[in-house]
Amino acid sequence: MSIAENIFKFNSEIEPFNAQLIAVSKTKPNEDLLQAYEAGQRDLGENKVQELTAKFEELPKDIRWHMIGHLQRNKVKYIAPFVHLIHGVDSLRLLVEINKQAAKNNRVINCLLQVYIAKEESKFGLDETELEELLNSTEFAEMENIKIVGLMGMATNTENEAVIRREFKGLKSLFEEIKSKYNSEKVAMTEISMGMTGDYRIALEEGSTMIRVGSAIFGSRNYH
Ligand SMILES: *Cc1c(COP(=O)(O)O)cnc(C)c1O
Repeated sequence: MSIAENIFKFNSEIEPFNAQLIAVSKTKPNEDLLQAYEAGQRDLGENKVQELTAKFEELPKDIRWHMIGHLQRNKVKYIAPFVHLIHGVDSLRLLVEINKQAAKNNRVINCLLQVYIAKEESKFGLDETELEELLNSTEFAEMENIKIVGLMGMATNTENEAVIRREFKGLKSLFEEIKSKYNSEKVAMTEISMGMTGDYRIALEEGSTMIRVGSAIFGSRNYH
């Protein structure tokens, strides 16, 4: 199927769930992104700052750019002027820097806090204690250019559906808890970013509001 057909297929599949499709275009050339754009896709996800800024400069300005990967503090300044949503905020220090760069650009940047839900050492994210420490900190209380709009998580890379489902359920229940405890103008919890090509169906069933799908739309990636 073409990129456009994949976009249509995903949008009709997620419609009943009231979720949003983030088309993950990392490593793909601009012409592929434009095919998605022409099929109506406006939300695109990238995981490398340099690639994200280059694509932002070259492509239509009404694209909403999602930073979905691990973000280094010294690179926040490059995306702060335009990024739509940062999915992977995994430390207070990173949030401090995002707030500072957002202020310089006179904007409020929407962020998701990344929660560690998988059983893999390599995945980034906060645990529940760290998440609450962050939200209770005085540094966070003083930030004026940040809005936390939800949580993001990545399940274990496994064929075992029960494991994936349990991890997504955990993220959903943490989301509900944070939402009821911290709801405010600055912690306006509406989004749960979970689910990728291999596990988006389970994620939707467990309450995802944003699925981040790359290879099922653009084809497999080649990292050479
Ligand atoms: C690459 C990536 C995705 C998309 O992965 P696919 O398996 O190609 O759908 C989703 N989320 C994050 C954080 C990624 O880095």
